[in-house]
Amino acid sequence: MASVDPAGRVALVTGATSGIGAATAALLAERGAHVLVAGRDAARGEGVVAGIRAHGGRADFLAADLRTADSVRQLAREALALGGGRVDILVNNAGIYPFGPTEQVPQSDVDAVYDVNVKAPFHLVAALAPGMAERGRGAIVNVTTQAAYYGIAGMALYGSSKAALDQLTRSWAAEYGPRGVRVNTVSPGPTRTQGTAVMGDALDELAAQAPAGRAAEPEEIAAAIAFLAGDAASFVHGARLSVDGGRTAV
Ligand code: NAP
Repeated sequence: MASVDPAGRVALVTGATSGIGAATAALLAERGAHVLVAGRDAARGEGVVAGIRAHGGRADFLAADLRTADSVRQLAREALALGGGRVDILVNNAGIYPFGPTEQVPQSDVDAVYDVNVKAPFHLVAALAPGMAERGRGAIVNVTTQAAYYGIAGMALYGSSKAALDQLTRSWAAEYGPRGVRVNTVSPGPTRTQGTAVMGDALDELAAQAPAGRAAEPEEIAAAIAFLAGDAASFVHGARLSVDGGRTAV
């Protein structure tokens, strides 16, 4: 059986201390996965874990700063230790999205965006996908953004990083798919999270451009991630599921 069902599986969700990641962690746990909640903020992480446990789910918090390859590899080691030697589902959800005119973007932001949005998923997959392939099953979901698929002024850095992650989905589908590891992308549109709260009206203005005409709730994105992580998507490899209210369709 080459697919992965959340029940009884070990799932590592990055950026699970907030927004889409927290909603995904809760949903995967509700469906029976042992969820490893990764992030930097221990208070928020323990809050997510407590919420899952209060509903009878299984979860643990893993603190890690995804800015450096060493800490990413350390996260992978700790996840494997907590997972009894395996991670069956990896959700590369953590992301940062500083916006602004290209000429005003500081070098530190260029580095940070590529460290967190591109390099961290790369190192996590390098650390965890071979084990999935050896066991003949696994599911990886990369979280991108609608801003990776058309031009938005002020989002060049962010959009380009997620476009790179989207290409990694296809490359990894080719590389690990034949050994039972499904790799797919979920591409959200504007979503109400702790991270986008600072955008104020700009979030709703962006959302108004889509057929749905509104911003998403994190749970609506989590549902798509959980679908791709589970057996219901057993024949889905290398796909992008746009959950953007239709914005990239029109
Ligand atoms: P958010 O509320 O901004 O939270 C970001 C998450 O990433 C937090 O859990 C944060 O954890 C983690 N993170 C950030 N920097 C990190 C670092 N250096 N090391 C480890 N973890 C780090 O996120 P969100 O809005 O739910 O977005 C989740 C994903 O969806 C992102 O990849 C984002 O690009 C994508 N997305 C979001 C939207 C949207 O409108 N919200 C739209 C399209 C795509 P700590 O603070 O605990 O470190």
